[in-house]
Parts: sequence; C-alpha cells; structure tokens
Amino acid sequence: MKTVVVGGVAGGASAAARLRRMDEHADIVILERGEYISFANCGLPYHIGEVIKDREKLLVLTPEELKNLLGIEARTQHEVIRINRDDHTVTVKDHRTGTEYLESYDRLVLSPGAAPILPPIPGADLPQVFTLRNIPDMDKIKSFVDEKRPSRAVVVGGGFIGVELAENLQHRGIEVTLIEMLPQVMAPIDYDMAALVHQHMHFKHVRLALGDGVKSIEPSEQGWLKVTLQSDRKVDTEMVILSIGVKPENQLAKDAGLELGPRGTIATNATLQTNDPDIYAIGDAASVEHLLTHEATSLPLAGPASKQGRMVADHIVGRNVRFKGVQGTSIVKVFDITVAATGMNSRQLEQAGIQFKNAIIHASNHAGYYPGAAPMAFKLLFGLDGTIYGAQIVGMEGVDKRIDVIATAIRAGMKVFDLEELELAYAPPFGSSRDPVNIIGFVAG
Ligand code: FAD
Repeated sequence: MKTVVVGGVAGGASAAARLRRMDEHADIVILERGEYISFANCGLPYHIGEVIKDREKLLVLTPEELKNLLGIEARTQHEVIRINRDDHTVTVKDHRTGTEYLESYDRLVLSPGAAPILPPIPGADLPQVFTLRNIPDMDKIKSFVDEKRPSRAVVVGGGFIGVELAENLQHRGIEVTLIEMLPQVMAPIDYDMAALVHQHMHFKHVRLALGDGVKSIEPSEQGWLKVTLQSDRKVDTEMVILSIGVKPENQLAKDAGLELGPRGTIATNATLQTNDPDIYAIGDAASVEHLLTHEATSLPLAGPASKQGRMVADHIVGRNVRFKGVQGTSIVKVFDITVAATGMNSRQLEQAGIQFKNAIIHASNHAGYYPGAAPMAFKLLFGLDGTIYGAQIVGMEGVDKRIDVIATAIRAGMKVFDLEELELAYAPPFGSSRDPVNIIGFVAG
C-alpha cells in the first residue's frame, strides 16, 4: 500500500510517522512545496524575538533524518499541482529543476495547511511588509530586524500570532503598535476577559489601535512607512507584519472536485476522508466536527493537526477509529500573562442559539501564604443543566493547568457539579485545598 502525503509539517509529518509505526512495509512519500519539513511553526515568533536563540532548534527533522530513522521519503521543493483522481496519481512540480512528473498513490493525505490572508490594500506588497508562516518568512523578518534595526513596528491583527509577534518585537527593543479590526484582541475569549489583556499590553507599552483596520501602507519620504487606518489615523513605522488570519490551501482539492466546507476548508467525514474515500484531509486546510455543536468547523492549531494525522494513519492501516471533534483549546503567552480558552465563548454560544450562564472568579494559583501567589481571572460558561461549554482564564502561573482540567472535563462530558468534587493535586507551592477549578464549580453549581 502506497500513501502519498501532501505537506510535510504538523499534520503531514505526524501522519507519515504514525503510518510507519503502524506498518513497517508501507510505502510512504511526503511531498513538500517548501524547503523544510517538520519544523516548529509555533516557535517562529520566539526566534525573531531571540528567546529561542538557536535557529536549528526549530528544525525538528530533516528529510535525511526521516529517511534514516523511519524509512520515509520526503521530497522538499516538490509541489503537488494536480490530483488526478481517476488514475490515482498526483502531478508534482520539482521546483529545483522545473520539471513535472506523476506520482501514484493508493491513499492520499492532504495536509497543505493555511496561508496568511493578505488584505487587498495598497502597499501590502512593499518589501518592509511581512507575513509569518514558515522558516523563510521568519528568516526574512529576523534579517530585517537584525540589519535595519527598526525602532517601530506595526503588527496588524490581534490573534495568537499577532500578540506573540508584538511581544517578541518589543523584546528586540522595537516599539509596537498593534492594530485590530475587532474591539478586542484574542477573539477566542470574551470582551471582559480580553480587557485584562489590553490592560497588560498597555502596561507593557504596546500601543493598541482596536476597532480599527488598515486602509493603506505607503512609503514615506524618510524611507519609512506611513500606515493609514480606517479611522484616518496615521502611524509611522519602519516595518509592518500582517497577521490577520489564515485561509485554507484548498486549490488542489477544489480543482479535483473535492467538497468544501466552512470558510473554504476541505470537507471531511468522521474518519477524515473527503468525498473521495481514498483521499483524506487534515490540519488547517480541513474542516472537522465540533465536539460540542457537532457542526463542521475548522481550527487552525497544531494539536488537532497532529492528532488528525495520527488518526488518519490508523484508519489507513484498518483500525476502527473516528475523530470525535475539536473543542478549541488554546493558550498564549502575552508578556507576563497567560491567556487560555477551551470550548465555546459567549458569542459562539449565542450564535449557536444555546442558552447559557457564566461564573467568574478571581483566585490565586496557589496558597496565598506561600510566596509568589499570582491572581487569575477565571470564567466558566455552562448550560442550565450544568453542561460545561467553555472556559477562559487570564492570569500568570497555573493558567495552563486549570484550562487543561476544564478541557478534559468538557471532553469527558462532566457537569459543573463534578468540578466541585475533583480531587486535584495540592501542596502550598502548587495549589490550594480548594483549587480554582473547585471554586468555580461551587459558584456555578
Ligand atoms: P502546516 O504545518 O502549515 O503544513 C502545511 C505544509 O504543506 C506547508 O509546509 C506547505 O508548504 C505545504 N504545502 C501546501 N500546499 C502544498 C502542495 N500543493 N504541495 C506540497 N506541499 C504543499 N498552533 C498551536 O496550536 N499553537 C501555537 O503556539 C501555534 N503557533 C503558531 C505560530 C505561527 C507563527 C504559525 C504560522 C502557526 C502557529 N500555530 C500554532 C498553528 C500551527 O502551526 C498549525 O495549525 C499547524 O502547523 C497546521 O498543520 P498543517 O499540517 O495543517 O499545516
């Protein structure tokens, strides 16, 4: 059985590696358009900020290592330009030679990811305007910062990548203005929780322009850039990074007549097959079921991509598996605070027509009498019958632990009343005899 994987990073590399573990005789080929496979996208902003100093640390596996360790052939700079469903082949362009060839498959796994959205505004193509998706993008931004030593940067978009970039550019001594069209940063959390993030970013001297978009970017006479906002406010800067979201790489699937789902993602069933059972789609490019609404959704995050890759490999070797859905668990560091969420937020619940209540507490990560206790704001969204729909936490230490407990509780179908009784690890440096998770259960129950 021969499996061809399109895209060799989070989802694709995970599918290929698992397939090898499940079948030592499988013929596995990864075709990757870019120069690198299996790199750590999530670490890119931190190398720009020189928090991760060693660039090589981001390159998890090279094609040679993959070949030697797992017997998987990964061809970089090989782009799949067509899927020929009738004869089970893909047309591949080798960008090193400019030649094209056909590669046959029994099963095809599409994990082409999602590309940064470029707003249709004048100046988006200027050389000092960047996007960040992969190692070459990171190299370009880092070289610009290293060589030109800009003192001001504009980051457009207040999602995960935007706030991480704001922090990392600030870390390089650059004054950052962050522009966000919505009235808040971090769309997965509610406004009242995001307000805490705004306050912290102000405290860290990031200039926030919320509820405003970019109208144009022009070169200025001094060789800088002039960014004009929708409000006609003007911001002088030396560089701009656009991080306003991503769009699925769906052209191959579209051309091959595969069904599309929400926001142009490739539609899949519970076993992550497209409408062609020999073609699977995973990761940022695919839509999958939402654990709570059971509707098709897309969640461009590394954890789901990697788990889907693993599951597809299991399905290919004949295991009886099904993807139970995504719930949207996420976490991000914003300077000294941590912002985490799982499940649905208020806006999503309202849109889904689900009745809900919320509980908010302010608790310490561990016993107050032990040095270094730090506060966290903890919001729980739950149904009238106690069903847990979502949680959002903004705090310092210990946010990750609590959000993961709630994420697990949601997946296990627990109710708010169950949170009261959870027996969680406690000693003064780590928690309290009544953990914040218990307390929010008391308040909600
Ligand atoms: P990718 O990992 O993007 O891989 C897709 C690959 O397919 C690309 O390398 C592309 O070149 C290749 N490709 C596309 N089309 C073709 C073709 N036709 N032929 C051959 N190859 C093709 N997620 C988190 O959960 N936590 C984080 O902290 C986090 N931080 C991030 C920070 C940054 C800067 C970025 C960019 C992303 C971050 N993500 C994070 C998101 C996470 O990286 C993605 O969700 C994940 O990589 C998706 O995996 P994927 O396999 O779908 O796509």
